[in-house]
Amino acid sequence: MKKISILSIPIADTTKKEFVNTVTKQNGQAWIVTANPEIIMLAKELPHYKNLLLDADYVVADGIGVVIGSKLLGHPLKERIPGYELVHEFLAVASAVGVHKGQSAEADSANNRQSTHSNSQAIGARNKIFMYGGKPGIAAKAAEMAKAQYANIDIVGVADGYGGDGNGDEVAAKAAALTPDYVFVALGAPKQEEWIAAHRDQFPYAILMGVGGSFDILSG
Ligand code: UDP
Repeated sequence: MKKISILSIPIADTTKKEFVNTVTKQNGQAWIVTANPEIIMLAKELPHYKNLLLDADYVVADGIGVVIGSKLLGHPLKERIPGYELVHEFLAVASAVGVHKGQSAEADSANNRQSTHSNSQAIGARNKIFMYGGKPGIAAKAAEMAKAQYANIDIVGVADGYGGDGNGDEVAAKAAALTPDYVFVALGAPKQEEWIAAHRDQFPYAILMGVGGSFDILSG
C-alpha cells in the first residue's frame, strides 16, 4: 500500500473500501492507527509516540485536516478514513463472516470434526471482538448496540478503561485468553497506542485499532 509522509508520519494512501478489503483479507496481525491532526501533532511533540506510529502497520488519515495537509504538501491523499467509520466497517465484515462461520461450524460438527481457533482464523472467519476502554459500563453498552446492529459478531469480552493495574496488563491477559480477531481500544491518544504497542505480541492474529471516543458514540 502506497504511503504519503505527513510531518514524517507515513499515511496510507488508500480509500476506506480498499483499506478494509486489504486488512480483513490478510492473515496475521494488523495494527492500525487512525491519525487525526492531534495525533500527528502529538507525534511531533513526543518522540516515543512518534516511534509507536512508525511501528504500526497502518496509519490512516482520520480527519479532514490530515487530508488538507497532504494537499498543501503537494501529495494529496485519496480519502479521509475516520476511525469511527472503520469500526462500523470491520463490524460489518465480522458479522458477514460470522454467518459463514456459523454454517461451517455446523458442517464441522456434522462431520464430527473439531474446529480449532487457529483454523478458524487462518481461513479468515474473523468475527470475535474485544472492546477495551471508556468509562465503566460504556464498552458493555457499546457492545450491546454493536450486536443489535451486526447480529453475527461475537463480542467475546469488554473492559472499561479505568480499572485494573493502571497499565492494562490484566486486561491484556484477559483479552488474549479470549483470542479475539479484533481488539478495539478506546483509551484516547497516546494511551491506546501505548497499550497496543506493549501488548500486541499477545494478539498475533488480531486487527488492533485505537478508536478514541468511538464507544462513547456507539453507546449513544
Ligand atoms: N479513556 C479511558 N481511560 C483513560 C482515559 C480515557 O478509557 O484513562 C477513554 C475515555 O473515556 C474516552 C476515550 O478514552 O471514551 C477517549 O476519548 P477522546 O474523545 O478523548 O479520544 P479521541 O477520539 O479524541 O482520541
